[in-house]
Amino acid sequence: MNYNKNKLFIDKIAVDKIIKRFGTPTYCYSYNQLKENILNFKKNFYKINPLICFAVKANNNIKILNEIGRLGLGADVVSKGELMAALRSNINPRKIVFSGVGKTSNEIEFAAKKNILLINVESRSELITISKISNKISKSIDIGLRLNPNVDAKTIKEITTGKNSNKFGLNEKEVLDLLDEYKNSKFVNIKCLSVHIGSQITSHTPYLRTLNAMQKIIDKSKFRFEYIDLGGGMGINYGQENKLLNYKKYSNHISKFIKKNKVKIIFEPGRSIVGSTGYLLTKIIYIKKTNKVNFVILDTGMNDFIRPALYKAYHRIIPSKKSKKKIFKIHDFVGPICETTDKFLSVKTFQKLNEQDNIVICDVGAYGKVLSSNYNLRIGASEIMVKNSKVLRIRKKENLNSII
Ligand SMILES: *Cc1c(COP(=O)(O)O)cnc(C)c1O
Repeated sequence: MNYNKNKLFIDKIAVDKIIKRFGTPTYCYSYNQLKENILNFKKNFYKINPLICFAVKANNNIKILNEIGRLGLGADVVSKGELMAALRSNINPRKIVFSGVGKTSNEIEFAAKKNILLINVESRSELITISKISNKISKSIDIGLRLNPNVDAKTIKEITTGKNSNKFGLNEKEVLDLLDEYKNSKFVNIKCLSVHIGSQITSHTPYLRTLNAMQKIIDKSKFRFEYIDLGGGMGINYGQENKLLNYKKYSNHISKFIKKNKVKIIFEPGRSIVGSTGYLLTKIIYIKKTNKVNFVILDTGMNDFIRPALYKAYHRIIPSKKSKKKIFKIHDFVGPICETTDKFLSVKTFQKLNEQDNIVICDVGAYGKVLSSNYNLRIGASEIMVKNSKVLRIRKKENLNSII
């Protein structure tokens, strides 16, 4: 994305042109950025040679999954729907892992029959259910045990998952007990020890504490795991971070870990792969001026993009046409939804704007469209992708009759 003669371009195509053809609100993804993010991720961990399973929950568009698969990644899924989407996108089942605290028998049986790489178990009850299904379908099932390492990921509390107050994973004692009970089971093969401690993590220290917690399990149990699944959570630069993850340090510590334990590493990144690939294209419906604030009312709302309302997440907002004229007044960029939290951003000053101007919300490729709804009975934003100087529609437009 860049400005040329004050006009905004995404991969060399003018945003105003895209909007003229596809309308607003629309999620627009850059294939080039997707490819770059994946190459960067691989480069950061090249010494480790990991299996990279993209966390489908961050973005489940079939076309995007298909491109991700073609660029060599597998998938981390958390429901039967996501597993079906990954398989339909031609992602190899041997590169798919299944996580989640509430997998139903139906979902487990479906996954087992598809021969996916691993089911990451999050409770004793789930392991009992998996054993029963194995017995029923006469097939042993490959599993991982998800450890809750009780590590604070130092991120927003709503997206922390690796503390013992969170619902995810098994504590150290539970992992050790289950290893003991199930190491010779004919129903399950324990192949992996897995973790996922949270999202938008910008320091390597929580990851190091996690590696230490995993080492402790290996040392205490003397169990030979084939895989260590380190989850995802790598933070990205939304424009307000005061530091970012030091991949080199993280990677060096993992290298040492591998040398000692002779294991294959799995990662489950979501945000770091797709976050920066997405733009939400929108139009100003009205500008409502009050004494203190200019409310810039957009044609997209929290139903299309809920992260600012849900976690107070920061996302840059930029105009499709740059102007030098500044207005020194608070601007609140809001949606049309009947909720006060339906606000994307508040800034102290912004360039002069007019009704009908096009506006772009940045870095919405992860946890954007996937978290959208038809709240207020609104048509959801459609999705397009810029690839090789072409713009393709990658999700059908909804229509009011079908959602009503
Ligand atoms: C959400 C999730 C991920 C991806 O997290 P990101 O922060 O998007 O990288 C990975 N693994 C599991 C189990 C998850 O729930």
